[in-house]
Amino acid sequence: MPLSWFACANCGFWQHHFAPPDCPVCTDVRNDLPEDGWHFLSEDEVRETHSGAAEEVAPGLWAFTTTPHLGLGGTGWLMVREEGNVAFEAAPFYSQAMLDQIRELGGITALAASHAHGYGALFQLQREFEPPVVAIQKDDLQLTKAFRVTAPYDATLDLAPGLTLHHVGGHYEGQACLHDATEKRLFCGDMFKVDQIEGRSTHVSSHKAFHKDIPLTHGELAHYREVIAPLDFDAVLTPFEYAPEIGRDTALAVLDEALSRPPQVRRYAL
Ligand SMILES: [Zn+2]
Ligand SMILES: [Zn+2]
Repeated sequence: MPLSWFACANCGFWQHHFAPPDCPVCTDVRNDLPEDGWHFLSEDEVRETHSGAAEEVAPGLWAFTTTPHLGLGGTGWLMVREEGNVAFEAAPFYSQAMLDQIRELGGITALAASHAHGYGALFQLQREFEPPVVAIQKDDLQLTKAFRVTAPYDATLDLAPGLTLHHVGGHYEGQACLHDATEKRLFCGDMFKVDQIEGRSTHVSSHKAFHKDIPLTHGELAHYREVIAPLDFDAVLTPFEYAPEIGRDTALAVLDEALSRPPQVRRYAL
């Protein structure tokens, strides 16, 4: 088989490979293994069976999603900005119509993701728009074989004017959040898991591993707190949901509650 792109049918993680022996995201403790063995989809198979859509969830903020769901079913965020558009996280797959829509909106100047569960088809965005900056925190570089990181970083990286990446670790070693100081938003990766009913957030929690309900340690929670406490935000965006109900005070209250007791996964009611 020639070198090409394959998606894990279980989690949606893409690999640039000729015959993926397994999926590094599914073999990791933070995801479940498929019940019936490995199944990898070629890019053509995914293209033939999936489409998607984009919705402007707030002025200049677009959410790209893939239908039917592929893998974890994430959301790719696109911030349309005069200084150049920024994409954070990626949809599991972009149809040609979705890519055309991004081009009509001005393409992509800078591209980044919080951690492997948000990578989606980031490789498509790099291949199509060739943004000069593709930023991933250095501790997660081993998971980026489907695309090319041009801007690895340590603690922080200024991705674009008013947009700063902060390494938070915890859930994934190289997990990072993106703070938008102008719009007061925190793209929080999987620092927070938000449960929603019909688009309204009901509960928030923090985990090391969602499927197995493994809690974070106090040290990991304290580091989350230390990083986000100085940041001004009144909405969070995970790789899945937009949660305009969760601002800095709520996010800190979730962490403080978890820090006040022995480590255990608990959903904080809003
Ligand atoms: Zn997988
Ligand atoms: Zn995750």
